[in-house]
Amino acid sequence: MSVTGLCQVCESAAANVSCDRCGAAVCRDHYDADTGFCADCAANAEMS
Ligand SMILES: [Zn+2]
Ligand SMILES: [Zn+2]
Repeated sequence: MSVTGLCQVCESAAANVSCDRCGAAVCRDHYDADTGFCADCAANAEMS
């Protein structure tokens, strides 16, 4: 998938991927490849 713009987590790096859960565009540092979630969703998913 192609994403343009800035990462919605750090807002400083270019977004490369979109979260499978919330659809946020995030950079690879804030994308969990195991779950396909952004860092925010991955943190929430682990807590639940
Ligand atoms: Zn980021
Ligand atoms: Zn997300």
